[in-house]
Amino acid sequence: MHRRILAPGALAAASLLLAIPASAASYSPGAPGIGDPYYPYYGNGGYDVSHYDLRLQYQPATDELAGTATILARTTQDLSSFDLDFLLDVSEVRVNGVKADFATSGQHELVITPKSPLAQGTQVTVVVRYSGVPSTKSAYGFDTWHRTPDGAVAADEPESAWWWYPSNDHPLDKATYDVSVAVPDGTQVISNGLLQSTSSKLGWTRYNWRQNKPQATYLTTLAVGKFDITTSTSEGGVPVVNAYSKDLGDNDGAARASVERTGELVDWLSGYFGPYPFSSAGGYVPNTTTGYALETQTRVYYSPKQFANGANTSVVVHELAHQWYGDDVSLKGWKDIWINEGFARYAQWLWSEHEGEGTAQELADYVYASHPADDAFWTVKPGDPGPDDQFDIAVYDRGALAIQALRNEVGDDAFFAILKGWPKEHAYGNASVADFEEYAEKVSGKSLSALFDAYLFEPTKPVAPAVKAVGAVAAVAQPKSWKQIEATNDVH
Ligand SMILES: [Zn+2]
Repeated sequence: MHRRILAPGALAAASLLLAIPASAASYSPGAPGIGDPYYPYYGNGGYDVSHYDLRLQYQPATDELAGTATILARTTQDLSSFDLDFLLDVSEVRVNGVKADFATSGQHELVITPKSPLAQGTQVTVVVRYSGVPSTKSAYGFDTWHRTPDGAVAADEPESAWWWYPSNDHPLDKATYDVSVAVPDGTQVISNGLLQSTSSKLGWTRYNWRQNKPQATYLTTLAVGKFDITTSTSEGGVPVVNAYSKDLGDNDGAARASVERTGELVDWLSGYFGPYPFSSAGGYVPNTTTGYALETQTRVYYSPKQFANGANTSVVVHELAHQWYGDDVSLKGWKDIWINEGFARYAQWLWSEHEGEGTAQELADYVYASHPADDAFWTVKPGDPGPDDQFDIAVYDRGALAIQALRNEVGDDAFFAILKGWPKEHAYGNASVADFEEYAEKVSGKSLSALFDAYLFEPTKPVAPAVKAVGAVAAVAQPKSWKQIEATNDVH
């Protein structure tokens, strides 16, 4: 190993170079977006975050949130200024310890101009002090901070971070997190990962949560309210932390009968997807009125409405499947949403098969038969659906149909090797639909471009050599699991 030793004179010269850029002309503002064609202003250019430390205080009675975000990042270009995505009111910004100028721009941009420009490839510490009432903020018509009778929840896709912490808000820039929130005694805080400690002082209790694996901004969640928290360990050794609002009413039993099976279902999914990638698993059910569920990393958000008709293991399987497909391996751009939703829906089909309520093939046949060729369903391309159709049911059902077609094309041995190998191939990283096709071709040794084109990229009903030839919908029986799976159509 060689380490260059500089003479004292050289050191002084090097310091001078850092302080005064040799070529100030090369320093330019970081882009206000990370370059996602679906959402031009989501995320930012010029830097890469490695860690967020959020030290906050929240008062449920007034919805007042205040605190400090400390962001560790590395510059990827010479920067004269850079953006964070944020909506609350900022009182001070420091960059590497020095007060920086800041201004708001556009719908949700916080533009930070440090006293000294930042050279490419340097470590930067950004401290943002802020406060605000998140429920009073909106951007692009979105208002995704959900108040509850005893607190609030941040869980939405793709927009949720802007209401509670400044970030580089795009899945391409994943980071680790410490989320520390003080709330009035008697109230709980739920977030990702594992609870490290709690402490009480002067009527406030502070909860310190840690996510030690890379996590996308939209998968970072915060819930404040009065919760009953349960802990256990799965048979496979995964710590499980679940939380239930004490105000779930008639849905309480069904919610627990579903979410308390998290450990069992994580172990079951590990059989298909490989070892569980995170330090803990679990879910929380706050007393929100929104209807969906979301794969927030290690701690899934479930609306109580998911359990209004009784226990629903299918939605739990869906969200837990995302821990591998979406959270461990995140999409590169939002057009790659099939990587998330196609596989989470397919996991529900595998669960149906396991439960004897219809095989994946029967579910694929039913989807294929239920939508005639002139149905608008087939105009949605799961491989690139466009921002308006990103969560269209076709991304889920046609997306899962594509996966069954792949299974039939390559055979079960190669198919299940692909399912299990993919999270390992891109562990804690990002990947695209094109990356998946390339990987599936590598593992199976088959050319799959015609199949992927027909099932994911053509705005027409595929001619189905890989799915059984079927006729009218009446010719295909509805699988027993269909109604329950259909009831999860509005989940993420
Ligand atoms: Zn989903």
